This record gives sequence, structure tokens and C-alpha cells, in this order.
Amino acid sequence: MSATSQGTSRFFRNWVGNQSCTPRDIRSPADEAEVQEIVRDEAARGGQVRVVATGHSFTPVHLTSGTLIGLDRLHGVLDVDAERRRVTALPGTAIGAFGEPLWEHGLALKNQGDIDTQGITGAMGTATHGSGLGYQHLGAALRRCRVVTGDGEVVEIGEDDPDLLHAAQVSVGMLGVITEVELEVKEAYALREEVAQWSIGEIRERFVPESEARRHCSMFWCPTDESAALYGLEMEPGRPIRDSAFIRIYDEAPADTPADPTHRRRVDRSYRVFPMVYDPNFHELEYFVRWDRALEAFEALRELMLASQPAAVFPMEVRSVGRDAAMLSPQHGQDTIVLSVSGRPGTDYWDYLRSVDALLGGEFDARVHWGKLHFLSREQLLERYPRAQDFIDVRRRLDPEGLFLNDHLRPLFA
Ligand SMILES: Cc1cc2nc3c(=O)[nH]c(=O)nc-3n(C[C@H](O)[C@H](O)[C@H](O)COP(=O)(O)OP(=O)(O)OC[C@H]3O[C@@H](n4cnc5c(N)ncnc54)[C@H](O)[C@@H]3O)c2cc1C
Repeated sequence: MSATSQGTSRFFRNWVGNQSCTPRDIRSPADEAEVQEIVRDEAARGGQVRVVATGHSFTPVHLTSGTLIGLDRLHGVLDVDAERRRVTALPGTAIGAFGEPLWEHGLALKNQGDIDTQGITGAMGTATHGSGLGYQHLGAALRRCRVVTGDGEVVEIGEDDPDLLHAAQVSVGMLGVITEVELEVKEAYALREEVAQWSIGEIRERFVPESEARRHCSMFWCPTDESAALYGLEMEPGRPIRDSAFIRIYDEAPADTPADPTHRRRVDRSYRVFPMVYDPNFHELEYFVRWDRALEAFEALRELMLASQPAAVFPMEVRSVGRDAAMLSPQHGQDTIVLSVSGRPGTDYWDYLRSVDALLGGEFDARVHWGKLHFLSREQLLERYPRAQDFIDVRRRLDPEGLFLNDHLRPLFA
């Protein structure tokens, strides 16, 4: 991400560079009081406010012609309560920055995704998830937060008001600026990782039962022989790559299990095992389908990708996420399979993405990742997310003037 504010030249570009804007102002407040001041000034001007954590979202969620608030001065773990299994942190705290302080208290985040550099409120804001049917996205762990709402006042949201909490757990920045979060965490654990390559036959036989039996699995299915190299996937030497998958399977082990860095079979502290390394050479669409249609949805997308070449060259990532209650969660009330496809920035692969949207949206009622490319309409939002209207009602209550909306979000949530 780059956000620059020099003289009259103000420019924001997200991590991968597919979204950019020239806000009137870019600010990095040092505390909540400064956030309130910024919000009040912008409200008085009838403008707009958006927040950027680390800009890893591929969607135009950050874009604004008003004020863009960055979180680079608002980070750090504030408190760890080992007895209640809670951690309190400032909004810009990176996911990876929770690892050590929690471990020192015998605790860990319940789950993590593929990278750990996102800011915690950015990750929660789009329901960022890892894999595992017994685990929810990061926002589902939110138990309390402080939010500077449309009139510049601070609202404290907690478990005493479940509706408000379920709106705040995934809010894509639309309820206001979150200035502090308290998350539920779990006892520290080690992760045992096994890496393998599966043929399409093994995928059909094993992916669903292994996902249900193990802590979690994830796979990258490769439509072409070149696909694995795009994500640096180490396939088994001498085996054909096309139509096979790089699979990672995980189980939990006690926290004091000695680290074992064995290649393709390692054990280490959970927060050290989760993150992968990605180059900013792709952008991604990710849709969620009910788990009881998991294999059917995977097969349908596989067929489409094989038929859509050469646009479909990046691997399809396949994961699972367990149900939760957040109003805008893609897992609201249902376990899901997660299917994501990518393309190279600068190439025109919109027809391919639209065909993925038509397939998974049309035949499987898929929900979308708020931080990844999607084509959701307001009608589809209201059909596929049972509590979308409740979220819109909360949003209107906390931000009646729509200060925190932008051109991407207004058609869906105004
Ligand atoms: C390489 C890469 C790997 C990824 N891996 C995964 C993965 O494994 N799983 C997954 O689910 N997603 C993944 N993503 C997507 C990514 O996790 C999400 O897009 C996430 O939201 C980005 O976090 P961020 O801190 O950059 O947030 P941003 O993109 O900066 O912000 C996300 C949203 O949160 C809002 N927001 C942020 N902070 C606040 C605040 N304090 N108050 C109010 N609103 C706020 C923003 O306005 C925006 O709407 C990946 C993305 C990349 C580029």
C-alpha cells in the first residue's frame, strides 16, 4: 500500500495496485480524540471518511474523495487477560503482532489466514478467515469495540447488545472508525503441518472427509502445469501438475511440542506456521458456498476453469470456514467451502471472473469476500445474507448521513 500526503498532492494505492484514489486529505491520527476531531470536521463539511488499515483488500473499499484515515500510529496490544482469554488492542495492530504477547500468556488467536500482515480491524472488517469447519473468520472473535460514529461520538459495543455486536464484527468500515477491539482467544497450541500433492481422484475422495476430520485443510488446485510456480508451490518432483492439488493438512498439538522444521511435515507454534509469503502479482475473487455442496461447487468451478483457459492460470484455492452470527458474514448461519480464483494485474480477465460469478452466484447462491473482487448487487445481498437489512438499519442509525459510505458501498448499503 502507498499513501502519500505531500503539499497538495495526496495519493492512495492499495497493496496490489489495482485500486487508487486522490483523497482531499490523508490523516494518521495518534489517538481516539484525534479520530473524533477528523470525523467531526469532515461531517461538518458534508464530506466522506474511509479508513485504511494495510490496504490488502482488492475491492474499492478504501476509496474516497474526502478524508482517508490511516492506522499507522494506532497499533499495539494493550492488555492480555489470560483468565478470561481476552486480548485488547489498537485497530492497526498487525495479526502477526498478536503472536508473541499472547504466547507469553499461554494464549493464541483461534485461527489465522494465509498472511499475518493485515491490521486487525482491516482483517475483521472484511471477515478475513483461515480454514477449518470448527473455526470462524477473525471478526467472529470480537467481543467489544469502541467506534467513532457519524457524529464524532464514541460508541462502546459489547456482548450486552448482541445485535450491535453482530453488526460490528464485520462492518467493512461502514459503522464508523473502530479505535479499540477486544477479542476472544484460545489456549496456546502448536500446529502440525503435512504437505502433499493430490491427483484429482484423491481430491474427490479425500478433501471433504479430511476437512471434516482434521483441524483444517487447504488446497491449491492447479489448472495448468505452470500454475504451481505462480504461487511458489513445491509440488512433488516428477509428477504432472495439471489437474492436481498442492494440499496442506493441519492438526493441533500441545503448545510445548518441540518445534520440528522437517520439510513437508513441520511442527511449530501456531502463529509461526500459519503465514505464507505472497508476491503482489495477483488479484483475487473469493466466493463461499454451503458446505453440503462443497464437492459439487469445486467440480463445477474446475470444469469452468479448464474450459476458460488461457485466462484461468492461477491455482484455485480451496478452504473451509465454520458458521457464525455476524450479520455480513459469508458464513452467517452456515458452514462454507471457500473457492478463490485469481488473475494477473494488468491482464483483462473480467469475462472469466464474470463467468465464475454467474456459476457460483447463479447455481450455488454464493456469498462474497468483502475484500476480494465481486459483482454482488443489492438484490443479491438481500437474498443471500439473511441479516443484511438488519445491518443496513444499524448502519443508518450510527451514520445517518452516510459519512462512511463511498461509491462502491453506497449502492449496496445506503
Ligand atoms: C496476499 C494476500 C493474502 C490474503 N489472504 C487472505 C486469507 O487468507 N483469508 C482472507 O479471508 N483474506 C485474505 N486476504 C484478504 C485480506 O485479508 C482482506 O482484504 C483484509 O481486509 C485486508 O486487511 P487490511 O488490514 O489490509 O485491511 P484494509 O484492506 O485496509 O481494510 C479492509 C476494510 O476494513 C476497513 N477498516 C480497516 N480498519 C478500520 C477501522 N479501524 N475502522 C473502521 N473500518 C476499518 C476498511 O475501511 C476496509 O473497508 C488476503 C489479501 C492479500 C493481498
